[in-house]
Amino acid sequence: MGAWWRMQCEDAHLWEIFLEGDAEPNEEQLTCQEDHQPAVTATRLPLADQATITFIPATWELEGSKGHSDQYFVAMHSSKHAEQSHRLTHPVTWEEAIKFASLLKGIPWGQATRRWERLSPDRKKQRN
Ligand SMILES: [Zn+2]
Repeated sequence: MGAWWRMQCEDAHLWEIFLEGDAEPNEEQLTCQEDHQPAVTATRLPLADQATITFIPATWELEGSKGHSDQYFVAMHSSKHAEQSHRLTHPVTWEEAIKFASLLKGIPWGQATRRWERLSPDRKKQRN
């Protein structure tokens, strides 16, 4: 998934970079941009386990015809546990997708999962 790296030089300048996967900073990335001193500390800061949200267009297309335009399946998965994921059964509009996704931002994965189960637009559709 990748991680942030925070470096500090002898003169207490701080800088951060984001690197994919298990990559580690190279010599250039370990060099302070302000005074060209090497970093004296380099700390890996792993990403928090929060929901990654995806809007999947629900539009179908066949021989020039289209349907479900401007409808999306909202999906979310854990950034730490790839096997844990949720996806709406019924598509929603872009505005509904943004509204629902906003309920899931910036919170731990476990809390996002509980909100999904409680507030998913699928539940409203099932009640109707
Ligand atoms: Zn420096």
